[in-house]
Amino acid sequence: MTSENLRDVVRGRVLLPGDSGFAEASGAWTVGVPQPVSAVVEAEDAADVAALVRHARDAGLTIAAQPSGHGASGDVEGVILLRTGRLDGVEVDPAARVARVGAGARWGRVLAETGAHGLAGLAGSSPVVSVGGFVAGGGLSWFSRAHGWAADSVRAFEVVDAGGEQVRVTAESDADLFWALRGGGGDFALITAVELELFPLPLLYGGRLVWPGERTGEVFEAFRQVTAGAPGELSVWVNRVQPPPPAPAIVTMDVTYLGSEEEARDLLAPFEKIGGVLSDNRSIMDVARLGGIADEPVDPSPALPRAELLTGVDDAVLEALTSEPVAPLLNLHVRHLGGALAKADPAGGAGGAVAEPYLLNLLGLRLPGLAEAVPASQEEIVRRLGERVSGRKPYTFLVPSEDAAQAFPAETLTRLREIKKSRDPGQVFRANFPVLG
Ligand SMILES: Cc1cc2nc3c(=O)[nH]c(=O)nc-3n(C[C@H](O)[C@H](O)[C@H](O)COP(=O)(O)OP(=O)(O)OC[C@H]3O[C@@H](n4cnc5c(N)ncnc54)[C@H](O)[C@@H]3O)c2cc1C
Repeated sequence: MTSENLRDVVRGRVLLPGDSGFAEASGAWTVGVPQPVSAVVEAEDAADVAALVRHARDAGLTIAAQPSGHGASGDVEGVILLRTGRLDGVEVDPAARVARVGAGARWGRVLAETGAHGLAGLAGSSPVVSVGGFVAGGGLSWFSRAHGWAADSVRAFEVVDAGGEQVRVTAESDADLFWALRGGGGDFALITAVELELFPLPLLYGGRLVWPGERTGEVFEAFRQVTAGAPGELSVWVNRVQPPPPAPAIVTMDVTYLGSEEEARDLLAPFEKIGGVLSDNRSIMDVARLGGIADEPVDPSPALPRAELLTGVDDAVLEALTSEPVAPLLNLHVRHLGGALAKADPAGGAGGAVAEPYLLNLLGLRLPGLAEAVPASQEEIVRRLGERVSGRKPYTFLVPSEDAAQAFPAETLTRLREIKKSRDPGQVFRANFPVLG
């Protein structure tokens, strides 16, 4: 049996190389990451996913789930690409503070539904990333300083296992698989839906302050001061942006605070003192607008990022991050982590504690003329940061050419590999960054 039998197996759309629309259907969100897959299957529902898995198991084929391709690594040669976009149901139970969310649903829609009940899920910066891919990789949320990994807010997974069975996985039903699914990547089962714990949102304050690039030193110094004593309810990110010339460089501070505007402004006092503000859209906001704060592209982009966890922001780090122009990069972005993320949760998933209090993201574009300059600039900045770069990276921030071993401590990786070998011995599933390398 081969991929060509797929139309007899599933009810959803199947596209094979040569079919009209194949190139578009098989493409990644990250433009320029090649996806030489053998077929694309757009599953109709969970039963369709199960039929596909049984077929792949019997035929010795491999499946990679990729709802949106935001985390594409290029490691998909010859596999069946499973699109889960039709598994996008969102049901909120406000009394139980739980949402059952289809694996292919995007965060923007989920937050619109939960926000209507004054509740939030642990979403990240992008409204178009899928919930399934986000929690499979752990998921660093705007609210992770208060509530930890998004994956650890999952109460149950509905999955199709490597035997093609539809199973509900909880801490009680299968502790090992539940642990691996919460942040260990997409290697262990195909998620069809997740049950997410939701958090009450009495007040949410957030938005972006923008200054001219000349204010960079002051903004990063304020970032250091504010983050040194920030409560878990406050999340602050700073971002140096170099738009295409002739637009001038800017520097921004993005914030969310789970509380009142008055309290937030007190905590942000060092930023409030910086003059020359170009724009300020901070306000008490609806959680449905969360994905707009960081102003990230929602359409496919030729992004060429590199992320690193930082052990601190001392003088040498501030100097390394602020003394040179951003170009040829598009932006240089630092998120404050810590809070609940720094604490080991014995009941948590594979993400574990994140000791590093900051996440640096160096973003360039995969464009002609920049193919060498962007990686060289990223490498030079990392070199300047020296031992302040820990070497570990959050799984959801891995990029092509990196691997799962960079996301997990050795003992976590060993446990994930054992679970992979026992739950998917035929390697029916392939994550973007497989734990077996
Ligand atoms: C603009 C932008 C902003 C981002 N912001 C954040 C952020 O704030 N915090 C953060 O943590 N990450 C962030 N990310 C990274 C993003 O969360 C990861 O790339 C994530 O894996 C994307 O999930 P996806 O399903 O949308 O992407 P895809 O590339 O479609 O999927 C990624 C991987 O998830 C696994 N997977 C997906 N669906 C399933 C499933 N149903 N069953 C089993 N495995 C599955 C697969 O291994 C797949 O390869 C951002 C990425 C971008 C491009």
